[in-house]
Amino acid sequence: MKKIYLDYAATCPVDPEVLSAMIPCFCDLFGNPSSFHSYGQDAKKALENARHTVACSIGASPDEVVFTSGGTESDNFAIKGVAYRNRSRGNHIITSSIEHHAVLNPCRFLQQEGFDVTVLPVDSTGTVDPDDVRKAITPKTVLISVMHANNEIGTIEPIAVIGTIAREHEVLFHTDAVQTYGHLPINVEELHTDLLSASAHKLYGPKGVGFLYVKKGTKIASFMHGGEQEQGRRGSTHNLPGIVGLGKASEIAGWLMKEEDERLKHYRDMLIRGIEERIPRTRLNGHPVQRLPNNVNIAVSEVEGESMMLELDMGGIICSTGSACSSMSLESSHVLISLGLSHELAHGSLRFSLGRYTKEEDIERLLELFPAIVRRLRALSPLCGTGR
Ligand code: PLP
Repeated sequence: MKKIYLDYAATCPVDPEVLSAMIPCFCDLFGNPSSFHSYGQDAKKALENARHTVACSIGASPDEVVFTSGGTESDNFAIKGVAYRNRSRGNHIITSSIEHHAVLNPCRFLQQEGFDVTVLPVDSTGTVDPDDVRKAITPKTVLISVMHANNEIGTIEPIAVIGTIAREHEVLFHTDAVQTYGHLPINVEELHTDLLSASAHKLYGPKGVGFLYVKKGTKIASFMHGGEQEQGRRGSTHNLPGIVGLGKASEIAGWLMKEEDERLKHYRDMLIRGIEERIPRTRLNGHPVQRLPNNVNIAVSEVEGESMMLELDMGGIICSTGSACSSMSLESSHVLISLGLSHELAHGSLRFSLGRYTKEEDIERLLELFPAIVRRLRALSPLCGTGR
């Protein structure tokens, strides 16, 4: 059976062109970019080319790009690095309730270290109100961290407005752009951001590599104490194949962005409309308009998300649930609960994330299969008829 992958927000396959760019870095271009001999200098050239490409893609200069091991490291670096380095100025951080755990957990960690963290609520579409950000700022605020777009519900946040507020109050502003880098145009000056996180595997690059943009002059503590790589901010021998892959992925994403944006929005809206027409008692989670072009997150009442996901998988369609499930506990998604969904509806939510290899017939196949699955599961559900 042909499988249809609709979980691109979790990760993407590596683009074959990206892989071709990476392969020479394993056996031929294997030198250490920090070595002064010709092998090292050849590797350094490849490293700096990738840095230049990435910097250009966000309107930054190359020395403002720090390569990391991915989104989680970039978020940790930004949050802990700013908090520690600016501690003499203040100990207050502002973030939102729908951030990825790569932001929320470093904030929780810092609370144990004596920092105060304000976690702002969102409205029912998952949007942070910039006025709430303004009101939360105190003389002790050193950092505001609000994501560019949410990974579960696809809501795009008013980042440029929040960035302006941060700048007016001379507070550093970080945005987690892991779900938007390579998908939406990003210019760090227009967004008024001082720090921005991204990860290669969300744009058809390899896993385990990403970058943190750090605006020139930003006071930030080093993340990894070791050698002098990345201006001493992140010691460790460079992951050259990964970084070259990220550079190539970024270049390709730039070429395809506009076309992909239109194509995916068309499929996204076709899927949303198709589900609304064919399956009663469903609702779209997230913002109806300000949402990622590839994200469809649907709450289906009276059914378990995990059951729908497994049935779809058996039918050849791969998607993900809106809730995190572990063998020890069934925890509702903190994002969906923040929107005001009941635990039942949060557990009855599914995310379909479309991507570069999604075709119209994939959406048609999903619309054929999904209503029958929901009908069957509802008939078996103890919640059937309750609307929960
Ligand atoms: N931030 C967001 C919004 C994400 O979606 C993810 C990954 O899903 C991360 C951070 C973590 O990125 P990585 O997997 O590269 O560590």
